Amino acid sequence: MRKNIVAGNWKMNCTLPEGKKLASEVIHMVEDEVNNDAEVILIPPFIHLTGIQSLIGSSERIFLGAQNCHQSKSGAYTGEVSAAMLVSCGATYVILGHSERREYFGETDELLSEKVAFTLENNLKPIFCCGERLEVREAGDHEKFVGSQVEKALFGLSEENIKNVVIAYEPVWAIGTGKTASAEQAQEMHAFIRKQIADKYSQAVADGISILYGGSVKPDNAKEIFSQPDVDGGLIGGASLKSRDFTNIVKAFD
Ligand code: PEP
Repeated sequence: MRKNIVAGNWKMNCTLPEGKKLASEVIHMVEDEVNNDAEVILIPPFIHLTGIQSLIGSSERIFLGAQNCHQSKSGAYTGEVSAAMLVSCGATYVILGHSERREYFGETDELLSEKVAFTLENNLKPIFCCGERLEVREAGDHEKFVGSQVEKALFGLSEENIKNVVIAYEPVWAIGTGKTASAEQAQEMHAFIRKQIADKYSQAVADGISILYGGSVKPDNAKEIFSQPDVDGGLIGGASLKSRDFTNIVKAFD
């Protein structure tokens, strides 16, 4: 069956010493206190990947992720980072299509479809983000909108490849705003996405894919959201910068 996952997206936060302190605290707390088998992913800025990987070491439950990568193998793309570089620094996962990348860096579903395919070819697992803005939800078009994001970015993949994708449903109106989708709203969208995958591939493929919820998850709402049948964990922004809060979110699966 599919994995439960709690991933912490640090975004553009933490100097290297701050990041090492945060990661060490999380690693110790998770190893000492957590009584479940959810996978934990630490997703620091690129330049901290090697430093954080040396703290994670060979942990069997804590993994390293990156926040983005380029869609080409290598070349004259100043300021960009390739999938192979990320793997060589110890990354297992990469976030693709975060709403901040879509909004501030103009990433489109077409570009993301290239990035998703390329990372998979390079043994890096994408955490593909999708989610609607407030006006889309208020117009009642959220399923159509998110369905289109998923279809355009993922449905060119083979059955073998889509099995290695993690999906994060992140309603844009809930990211960093303190407004969380209700557990029912999250479940409804996760079930919708899972059915879309079942219709395109198969029920077995859909049942194997972890779908994370993201948007103002905190220690006090994580348990209710994670207890929904189609919610397999969370992509955590703000609360991942506090070791106690992030660990308590992981403990929501206990
Ligand atoms: C995110 O950036 O993916 C996110 C969910 O942020 P926050 O938890 O701060 O809403």
